[in-house]
Order: sequence, then C-alpha cells, then structure tokens
Amino acid sequence: MTVACGTRRMSDAFALCPKCKQPMRLVRVVPALAGHPELQSFKCRACGEVTTRPVEDVERPR
Ligand SMILES: [Zn+2]
Repeated sequence: MTVACGTRRMSDAFALCPKCKQPMRLVRVVPALAGHPELQSFKCRACGEVTTRPVEDVERPR
C-alpha cells in the first residue's frame, strides 16, 4: 500500500493547537489585502480552539 506521506509542506497548511497540540483544521481563509498577508483560521476539533495566523512562509509563485 503506497501512501504519500512525504508531505512536509503540510506544516504550511496546518497548525497545531496551542492547548492540546492536535492538528488543527483550516476553517477559513482571508484573502490578502493591500499591505497585509493572507490570513488562515484554524480550528481544533478536539477542544474547539480557534487561531488565526498570517501566511508568510508559504511558497510564493515565481
Ligand atoms: Zn485543541
């Protein structure tokens, strides 16, 4: 059984819950505005924690 598990870039699309350290699910994306980076909101399915972070480290198209 072949599983593509070499997706280390998932760290760009997911976050860990600050409370329970579980992977958080991307629930919302705020498009980038002038002078502001794109925002991604994540929600923890385990405890309901929601966090929003700017997307700055993702690969940029060249
Ligand atoms: Zn949590």
